[in-house]
Amino acid sequence: VLEVRGLVRRYGTTTVLDGVDLTVEEHRVVTLIGSSGSGKSTLLRCVDLLEEVDDGQILLDGVDVSDPRADVAAAQRRMAIVFQAFNLFPHMTAVQNVSLAPRVVHHVPAAEADERAHELLRRVGLERFAGAYPDRLSGGQQQRVAIARALAVQPRLLLLDEITSALDPELVGEVLAIVRELADGGITILMATHEMGFAKQVSDQVCFLDAGRVLESGPPGQVLGDPVHDRTRQFLARVI
Ligand code: ATP
Ligand code: MG
Repeated sequence: VLEVRGLVRRYGTTTVLDGVDLTVEEHRVVTLIGSSGSGKSTLLRCVDLLEEVDDGQILLDGVDVSDPRADVAAAQRRMAIVFQAFNLFPHMTAVQNVSLAPRVVHHVPAAEADERAHELLRRVGLERFAGAYPDRLSGGQQQRVAIARALAVQPRLLLLDEITSALDPELVGEVLAIVRELADGGITILMATHEMGFAKQVSDQVCFLDAGRVLESGPPGQVLGDPVHDRTRQFLARVI
């Protein structure tokens, strides 16, 4: 689904991504771990074409979407991203939040978009709250609506950036449970997380980012359980 080759991203003189290579195969979950500032969010934003790329390539289903001539909007319609802050539209109900992009961006007829939105809210366990506005929902519920909204566009690739970081600890589990179900259901996911236990459970592959490079990657048992690099060991010793 996704292939990242030699990706470089600089801010001024600072190189934030320093030649990242990464492949995400269909139905797989690839997890980015690494210290704060290692470039996880920047990588996800580059993949979603929200940031310019200074060098390297991003291939989505074999098409170079980082090429200046690429159709960015078309590529973005094939991906969805969920951020740490559950940025739902506050003036819209849960179901309106979920049905908006299918209606407006994908031109799905309103009745069909609405029906699908209810189905997605059911999938994240929130059908009771379809008519609720975001300020009436807990953080965990808002984040579950945000996930439903991301799924509404039937993305080829789902990008998740620390989606539990802003949640109270007791709300983290319900959101991670949804992600686990999506992973089991075969959705292709590239995510960044600080939840190492979760990374271990759901990932097919874990990539340790260090100063803008993938220092090591492999099955979660290996990278998290028996890492090759000292930097990875040091990071894990601090977070686990
Ligand atoms: P965290 O775990 O804290 O979310 P991260 O791995 O997601 O960290 P990034 O947010 O990708 O890290 O940031 C990587 C580096 O890029 C950091 O040093 C950050 O200060 C820098 N950076 C990010 N965005 C910008 C920007 N718009 N302008 C300048 N520097 C930036
Ligand atoms: Mg980040």
